[in-house]
Amino acid sequence: MTLPDHPSLDDYRGQISEMAAQGLAAIGDAPDLDALEAARVAYLGDRRGRMLEFQRALGAIARDAKPEAGRLFNTVKRQLESALDERRARLGRGAGGYTPPADLTMPARPQWTGARHPVTLVIEEIAAIFRELGFTIALGPEVETEWYNFGALNFPANHPAMDLHDTLYVQDDVLLRTHTSPVQVRTLQRFAPPIRILAPGNVYRRDFFDASHAPMFAQIEGLCVDEGVSFVDLKATLGHFARRFFGSTRARFRPSYFPFTEPSAEMDVECRLCRGAGCAACKGTGWMEILGSGMVHPAVLEAAGVDSEKYTGWAFGMGPARIAMQRYGVTDIRVFYDSDVRFLEQIAE
Ligand SMILES: [Zn+2]
Repeated sequence: MTLPDHPSLDDYRGQISEMAAQGLAAIGDAPDLDALEAARVAYLGDRRGRMLEFQRALGAIARDAKPEAGRLFNTVKRQLESALDERRARLGRGAGGYTPPADLTMPARPQWTGARHPVTLVIEEIAAIFRELGFTIALGPEVETEWYNFGALNFPANHPAMDLHDTLYVQDDVLLRTHTSPVQVRTLQRFAPPIRILAPGNVYRRDFFDASHAPMFAQIEGLCVDEGVSFVDLKATLGHFARRFFGSTRARFRPSYFPFTEPSAEMDVECRLCRGAGCAACKGTGWMEILGSGMVHPAVLEAAGVDSEKYTGWAFGMGPARIAMQRYGVTDIRVFYDSDVRFLEQIAE
């Protein structure tokens, strides 16, 4: 195969990778140093090496394809050269060549290893605390029907959250879940109380991507349903959680509204970044909202087929990324989603 006079980028790419494969095989299979030298001359030699053809072709290739072709050429050249060095070192040793003894005082080369993401670490830590309290993990689909995401959770038919403005619809009544609360409904349908679950997962909002919002983010849902469960249980459990997770911290509940809980409350902890003095991350209030909670609305229990005369329950939802911001002193939520290793490696474990 030879290249046409004015090769296209595809021609170039196809042929240089074919040649590279042959060259790497010839080098890797060379049985001794003589055969290796022959392979070097055949592919990288100054007079008739096959790389020369591709080097010349760079001059004839269309201008806009030139940078890419040049990169391909350099990559292949480096590959062949390093394969050659490697094979030469191996054959040299096999033939009784001199291998210097390892210098054990040399600093080690850093090894890159995978690690868990800070948001994952926070989710695992939260899950561990609730596991001690008898909660188990429940998961649900990220693509949901409108009924599971809104209807069964007591959203009135024209609730603004159902607007195209806020929710990403897949088709008419199918959407990307906007919260993990549908897992509550699915769990209540499948299992009889007593129920204690923790449901971590990703949720989607048609939202701006700014310092404290992201269009996709993790959420953790908690649900406890049994006979005689009251707001006291909610407050005691979530207070316990805040103390376990943040250490000694001030926490407060503020009345709030969610369609699926009644009464509802949001829980704040003292901002860890400014110790309550007020900073940009807590918008100067000194408090950081970490979760929304409340007593499960009887309509939600009934929608899922649970007798709301007999059973009561409480639920909460929290954003682990926001909690991770507090834990790691991060003021911009986007750094958790940018996959910038320079940031992640400071935190990952
Ligand atoms: Zn603050």
